[in-house]
Amino acid sequence: MEDIESRTYDFVIVGSGLGGLSCAYILAAEGKSVIVLEKNHQIGGNLQVYSREKSIFDTGVHYLGSMDPGENLYQFFKYFKILDELKLHRLDEDCFDVIRFADGSRYCYAQGYENFQKKLVEYFPEEKEAIAQYCSKIKEICAYFPLYNLRSGGKNYQLNNELLELNAHDYIASLTGNVRLRNVLAGSNLLYAGYKETTPFYVHALILNSYLTGAYKLIDGGSQIAILLSRRIREMGGTIKKRQEVVGAKYHDNGAVQSVLLKDGSEIKGHHFISNTHPAVTIDIFGEDRFLKIYKNRVKSLPNSISTFLVHISFKKGTFPYLNYNIYQHHQEDVWEATTPRSETWPESYFICTPISGRHPEYADSMTVMTYMDSAETEPWADSFRTVADQGDRGESYRNFKKQKEERVLQYIETVFPNIREKILAVHSATPLTFRDYLGNKDGSLYGIRKNSQHPNSTQINTKTKIPNLYLTGQNISLHGILGVTVSAFVTCFSFADKEKLIGQVKNA
Ligand SMILES: Cc1cc2nc3c(=O)[nH]c(=O)nc-3n(C[C@H](O)[C@H](O)[C@H](O)COP(=O)(O)OP(=O)(O)OC[C@H]3O[C@@H](n4cnc5c(N)ncnc54)[C@H](O)[C@@H]3O)c2cc1C
Repeated sequence: MEDIESRTYDFVIVGSGLGGLSCAYILAAEGKSVIVLEKNHQIGGNLQVYSREKSIFDTGVHYLGSMDPGENLYQFFKYFKILDELKLHRLDEDCFDVIRFADGSRYCYAQGYENFQKKLVEYFPEEKEAIAQYCSKIKEICAYFPLYNLRSGGKNYQLNNELLELNAHDYIASLTGNVRLRNVLAGSNLLYAGYKETTPFYVHALILNSYLTGAYKLIDGGSQIAILLSRRIREMGGTIKKRQEVVGAKYHDNGAVQSVLLKDGSEIKGHHFISNTHPAVTIDIFGEDRFLKIYKNRVKSLPNSISTFLVHISFKKGTFPYLNYNIYQHHQEDVWEATTPRSETWPESYFICTPISGRHPEYADSMTVMTYMDSAETEPWADSFRTVADQGDRGESYRNFKKQKEERVLQYIETVFPNIREKILAVHSATPLTFRDYLGNKDGSLYGIRKNSQHPNSTQINTKTKIPNLYLTGQNISLHGILGVTVSAFVTCFSFADKEKLIGQVKNA
């Protein structure tokens, strides 16, 4: 067996989320020795799946964007040499997402800008101009993000405060007085946990653009991305170790990290260290006193996006049809209010999807319902800890809390699918504590640090830290989501590999 303690790796990567694995791939492909240390029994972070009643449930990835041939995530996955083995299913061309309201009205998002625009104009014929303007603005904004266009230079968002400060809600409201259209355009804002006052338009634009350029589900779950990536990393000589929680670090006299310390007492040495954990967690692991007070205070005080209550429903065999689209259901007109849930009316908004099974694509084994939940709701059980590797018990009161919340969600879901109860075999749920414990973040936040159109620079996290050989990667760098995290990994690795060459390799993969 490999003795990981006797070696000094070129790169020690903390966390095997998509960010950590992508960095490991890029660096291993550059000929570096890499080791990825993951605290869980399963790699992948948000890409982890679990199974109940023979159904596979995704925890943190339900569909991918930018996956049409030649689009950016497609090219990134081609570069990773995982594309050919990924089991993908394209969502409905004319209706990949449905924005649905309490009155039962439904609005389809179609794939491709032209199709998307055409469909919306059918619903809002008098708003043709506003819709066209909205689409061109999205394209205009996305052009400022070089890596999302597989470019190394040219137009850049970084010093463009006007772009960074453009608020999503305000911009959409400025286009039209038609309240329903405004809410339809922002209707999938669960994708980025949109806040009315602070969510920048560029976040909305990059994410919507990605789904318009190829929306796909992963057949039998998202863990295949992590599994395939880990295979490629190992083929290049890289090492990935599960159940290895990093709890501290040792330093050289010059202030550079010498090694990380694992919970079991072992020590892994490296020349460079990359942390895939939340920056505030990174500070705790690598030692508060090693960071400048101003940096530490800023990072620790930045608000995270809200957490989630995720309901997984298993169906009786062959009773519920597979839906080749997702639904964003809103029980209130103003879709921006959902991120401040009210206990009397919760859950005001939620995302519904049916995962696709390779065995019988015509019907759904299960349904996932993702709604918001403030981590304060699970505060009474905050001292508990539970994962597969560490089976603590949160107690009866927690189980009752979950049952009550599940019931509330089911009552709402029945308004969308009236006969759903008779088809249900079992219901499971995950709370902010589940996400906190599995991902090692502090509050189970859905997407990490909230981007803020009012103070855009304060929410930009650099990949370099004041510790000379410690770098950051993951969803808090560029953007969350599978595309955002992949882009972030490249940004991190540009410190070690030739940027032009790397982008060229992705483009020509
Ligand atoms: C409910 C939900 C639904 C989502 N749906 C989608 C979707 O449909 N499409 C999409 O594109 N994106 C989606 N996302 C977002 C996307 O999944 C994430 O942005 C992305 O996977 C984050 O990757 P990451 O590498 O930054 O971090 P993570 O996935 O959080 O990985 C961090 C890793 O670090 C490990 N770790 C933490 N602390 C330590 C330690 N001390 N020692 C060792 N290891 C440690 C964790 O265990 C974890 O494996 C969703 C997210 C959630 C929560």
